Amino acid sequence: MQNSRNPKTQSLKIEGIKDIIAVASGKGGVGKSTTAVNLAVSLAKRCQLKVGLLDADIYGPSIPLMMHLKGKPELSNGDALTTFIFISADRKMIPIESYGVKCISIGSLVDEREAIVWRGPMVMKALEQLTRGVDWGILDVLVIDMPPGTGDTQISISQRLQLSGGLIVSTPQDVALLDARRGVKMFSKVNVPILGILENMSYFKCPKCNESSYIFGQGGARKTAEEMNLKFLGEIPLEVEIRSGSDEGVPIVMSKPDSVISQVYGNVAEKV
Ligand code: ADP
Repeated sequence: MQNSRNPKTQSLKIEGIKDIIAVASGKGGVGKSTTAVNLAVSLAKRCQLKVGLLDADIYGPSIPLMMHLKGKPELSNGDALTTFIFISADRKMIPIESYGVKCISIGSLVDEREAIVWRGPMVMKALEQLTRGVDWGILDVLVIDMPPGTGDTQISISQRLQLSGGLIVSTPQDVALLDARRGVKMFSKVNVPILGILENMSYFKCPKCNESSYIFGQGGARKTAEEMNLKFLGEIPLEVEIRSGSDEGVPIVMSKPDSVISQVYGNVAEKV
């Protein structure tokens, strides 16, 4: 992995973590979490790195489901975790390990209905705990599944954590690409290097006739990447097994490691 850490970011390093990569999208539902999960597992399994995965999508955490996380994290001093907001330096959360990746998600900690009403400052406090209140140990890379969009929370995360780079996920659809451009601008504004754009839901290959249908348009993300002078990281098709794997907590890079799709995720992991 290249160490492209940004020297200009005025933020604090998390001890023991070499690189932090944020997976972002301009809008929700484009496959950001799916990408974060498959990237994290590829980095762990294929690249043999020590990997963490932080679900920063406070209002819609999907990592517990996608990574099959059960129960609550334990505390480093052996206490049971009751509330996570008041964890001190000597009582850190121990991430839940799945597929060789150390995972932390708000979804494992509080009821979704509780977090959904949190306002900005509370969200930032929670994110502070989810990053610095965690005993990550030594990590080569921490993958962050960012909240969708490009608002204050996303900017604060990008500023406060010393991000090595941001990866943008988009569908080929014009409206998603417009939002992806905003994501690129957001990272640029806070001097975070962009690792590239990954296109998700690029096409659907009919299992009967093998023909590809470009449901959301064709080649949009590649064109946008070229226009913005960014790396195009590849195309992930619409695939039933990606969806079912997410719902069952088995990422496609685990269930079908030799598939073309897993190769694309693997290439992304090697490139970033
Ligand atoms: P986001 O994090 O951008 O909101 P998710 O990764 O949660 O998006 O994906 C939204 C839904 O779409 C999930 O149910 C996921 O399984 C499904 N999905 C994502 N990418 C694909 C794909 N390439 N093919 C099929 N289903 C997908």
